[in-house]
Amino acid sequence: MGKIWANSGDSHLVEPADLFSTMMPAELATRMPRSVKDPDGQWETIYIDGDEFRRRMPRSSLVDPETGQSMDEKAPGSNDPHLRLKDLDAEGIWAELVYPSIGIWAHSIRDPKLLAAGSAAINNWAIEYQKVSARYICTATVPTLDVDDAAAEVLRAAGLGFRAAFLPVVPPGEKDWNDPVWEPLWRALNETGTVIGYHIGTEPHEASTANGVYYRGAGGALLNYMETTFGGQRAAAKMVATGVFDRYPDLKVIVSEGGATWGPFIADRLDEAYRQHASAVRPRLEKLPSEYLYTNVYASFQHDRSAVQACVAMGWNNVCWGSDYPHFEGTYGHTQKTLHELFDDVEPVASRRIRIDAFQELFPGIPDAPADEA
Ligand code: MN
Repeated sequence: MGKIWANSGDSHLVEPADLFSTMMPAELATRMPRSVKDPDGQWETIYIDGDEFRRRMPRSSLVDPETGQSMDEKAPGSNDPHLRLKDLDAEGIWAELVYPSIGIWAHSIRDPKLLAAGSAAINNWAIEYQKVSARYICTATVPTLDVDDAAAEVLRAAGLGFRAAFLPVVPPGEKDWNDPVWEPLWRALNETGTVIGYHIGTEPHEASTANGVYYRGAGGALLNYMETTFGGQRAAAKMVATGVFDRYPDLKVIVSEGGATWGPFIADRLDEAYRQHASAVRPRLEKLPSEYLYTNVYASFQHDRSAVQACVAMGWNNVCWGSDYPHFEGTYGHTQKTLHELFDDVEPVASRRIRIDAFQELFPGIPDAPADEA
């Protein structure tokens, strides 16, 4: 099995534990998200500005062939942007869209001033990470408790060199993504050519979704995992349905870690509504909803064969692969096996489109991946 390469539309950096204490005044730093793991490593507690919640730690899917035990070994490069390149080379991962890890919880902060200061701190640190390699596209954290703060930080981040911004699938506060209040944010993202990255599982945790727990008891793990996919689809659909892409035709969105089979399905569903329920549709759009979904919206998946078919059989060209490196629930340790299982029987143009070209279209100018080995 020769090595084949793929860009990743879903990766993460791991922030150092002292990030906030070194970048912010102590009284603010202590209120920023932090994780404390139980001694047995099974659970962690996330503390966010006076709130806390517990979650079970994800485990590695790799099993030691000798003992049958889970191999929960961290990727050697998970804390170091230089070592990380060695991991990526070994795995066959080329360029990456890099989200935060602990910073993902920033969107559960409720104090706008704290979120604005924390976002700036994360971004000032993450841009240095990005500078280590042209293969890293780090996402800027956006303080979404106040739209003017959000737009201002997008402009500042673009000035620093960010090409992508991480948004939660549901914004904190009262105004959802279909509210006109967000117009200055869309304008700032458009003006700077910043790609929006919605990472799934980022509903603010004070929402009724309570940290992604929709179901308890029998079947809960499967059902809750299924639910995590919908937030990203809803976020993208809100932008389509409210005409954001009519006003900003060049604005691009990627939904990360939520699978990618849903694109054609949502496109058909929205088109049917647009046609069959036309009298109720406001605002009217310049094109069919599917045209925006097929042009402005991208999605990354890790393992699902059906996502490949969304591109190959259903014509959604914006399907990207994603590793979720270095998270245990991703493909670290078995990326080559996964890529071969997904793509060995896919015709070369489509295979290359999903692994390489769709991502390069989102981020023009990134270096070319090495040639695949035969
Ligand atoms: Mn991820």
